[in-house]
Amino acid sequence: MKFMFRKFDTLGMPILGAAAMVLFVLERKHQLRRRTRPKKDRLVENGSVAAAAVPALRLLLVPGMYAAAQWANKNSFGLMAWLRLPKWAKYGAGFLLLDYSNYLWHVLLHKSDLLWRFHNVHHIDMDLDLSSAWRFHIGENVASVPYRGGMVALLGVPAPLVLFYEVIFEGCTAFHHSNLRLPYAFEKHLCQLMVTPRMHGIHHSIVARETNSNFSVIFSAWDRLHQTLRLNVPQDKITIGVPSYRNPHEQSPAHLFRMPFEKQRPWQLPDGTVPSREELPRQKELLP
Ligand SMILES: [Zn+2]
Repeated sequence: MKFMFRKFDTLGMPILGAAAMVLFVLERKHQLRRRTRPKKDRLVENGSVAAAAVPALRLLLVPGMYAAAQWANKNSFGLMAWLRLPKWAKYGAGFLLLDYSNYLWHVLLHKSDLLWRFHNVHHIDMDLDLSSAWRFHIGENVASVPYRGGMVALLGVPAPLVLFYEVIFEGCTAFHHSNLRLPYAFEKHLCQLMVTPRMHGIHHSIVARETNSNFSVIFSAWDRLHQTLRLNVPQDKITIGVPSYRNPHEQSPAHLFRMPFEKQRPWQLPDGTVPSREELPRQKELLP
């Protein structure tokens, strides 16, 4: 199995790092939602979770997906081979379908009780910013290897596309988790094409109906296709997190690590109430 990807590591990763640095500076200057917890504490917590998860991503997930694509390419296996698409179409359709498969994976993370245990670690973050983009339990990243590797093989996408897609995927994940306030008029149009910070903020709301919306990663079209798009929530009304995890002491790296193996709590606030909000009209229109 191949583990070294020269262009990915020497070009893709530095570009991603530079983009993250720009976002880090911008989200400080133009804040979208007000913070509820000290940034320093969250950097330590999210950094600790990422310290385990990112190596799993680079050393297991990326080589796994690449190997799956190489195997499919060599054996003329997968949708792209069966349809006998020309090379450019394999790249174009492959990119879109990889993104669609990740929409489905994200839905699965929320619908499966087992997978939710791991994905919940990402969702109980009580603020949302750039550091949330890598706050995924190592178990979630490991669990994604058979799914994402299997999808790559089933689609039969070209192996280099897997690496290219992953760089864009990570860049978009960083972008839509950031706390960057884009000009509303601009974001209103941008979210027609891709997932934006306001759109993804709604996915991290403590209101269940809102969490169960906006699962897309790069293109917002998948949410539109499956009627899971929800844009009509005012950002200043959103409380980020999961209602049953409102105690900041539970955000310690040790607790975050063992959380998937603990008893799961029902979707309600510590006083037993279930967060709700009056539903506004025009679900597919972004509010400021
Ligand atoms: Zn989610």
